[in-house]
Amino acid sequence: MLTKDTAICISVVDYSETSQIVTFFARAAGKISAIAKGSKRPKSAFDGPIEIFSYGKIVFSDSNKEKLATLTEFEFAYGSAGFTGLSNNLFTMNCCLFSAELLNKFTHDYDPHPQLFDDFLQFLQNSQEGNKKTEMLALLILFQLSLLKEVGLRPVLNACVNCKTRYEGRKTRDEIYFSSSANGLICRDCEGAFPDRIRLTETAADCLANLKLIAESQEKTLIEIETVLVHHFTELLGRKPKMAKYILTL
Ligand SMILES: [Zn+2]
Repeated sequence: MLTKDTAICISVVDYSETSQIVTFFARAAGKISAIAKGSKRPKSAFDGPIEIFSYGKIVFSDSNKEKLATLTEFEFAYGSAGFTGLSNNLFTMNCCLFSAELLNKFTHDYDPHPQLFDDFLQFLQNSQEGNKKTEMLALLILFQLSLLKEVGLRPVLNACVNCKTRYEGRKTRDEIYFSSSANGLICRDCEGAFPDRIRLTETAADCLANLKLIAESQEKTLIEIETVLVHHFTELLGRKPKMAKYILTL
């Protein structure tokens, strides 16, 4: 059976001299891996080799979901350009590769997440436009939080996870922590029960409690938040994501 979908390439490896194995994040189907036979031949059904972040309409056969699907058509959106502009800036490219790695790790084959697809597409479009380091960090953090939300792991960031005291109602200058095991913020009264807690600066906690502040935050605050998120992803995955070291170089 042939299935049509709209998809973004989130990983690609060579399979042979002429073929590739491509992992797509597809809007209706979710994540799929497919063999693109002959994609590296000069004249193929796919306008040349498929690159990471290629985006467009795909047709694939998925008669047996246990096996690799076969890609039969791929028509690039935007003519044949896709998101080629991302590779002009190394930090931007690394942020996009990091997002693709997390998307790959936190979604399952044939498990559709159309909202997450739209968020990822928007993230790539925004990344293509703005490429200052602070802008990219802000985009990355917001995408990572929407990823966690869409896969059912949304952290609690507006109240203490343990005692439910709202962050906005706290006494000024109270200490605030993030705990990966609790999946959210922990207040000073509760912190003793969460040995994995990380102390947050007041500015970083403000940003997490009100995500609108992230876009205007300073680089050091964004780095602090990203460090907490990398720690959190590491705990969730049981290993550090590969691309993390290219984002947090300190
Ligand atoms: Zn508490």
